[in-house]
Amino acid sequence: MSKGRPCRRCLIQDLPRGAELRTVIEERLRSIPEEEKTGSETYTARLAACRGCGELREGTCGACGCYVELRAARRAKDCPLKKWRAAVLPEGSGGAI
Ligand code: SF4
Repeated sequence: MSKGRPCRRCLIQDLPRGAELRTVIEERLRSIPEEEKTGSETYTARLAACRGCGELREGTCGACGCYVELRAARRAKDCPLKKWRAAVLPEGSGGAI
């Protein structure tokens, strides 16, 4: 995260451990019920897509305004630009990211 131009590849997880915003996001991630959570394989693929997306600005999606780590962490959410879809298939089945 920079104080000048917004970082286009940064996620909240890139903030230093203990940073206030990172702590808040980590708490919110832990509060998502397990049955609603995206599997780790899908979560990683979704965040990789966000890192390569021109809408990413310091962990926030310019298309929907969400913190992408929170949006990607929910199975039922999708990318507003359809760069990844809601996960409807079992993890590891080669389905949607
Ligand atoms: S959610 Fe979609 S539009 Fe938003 S930053 Fe990620 S890939 Fe880009």
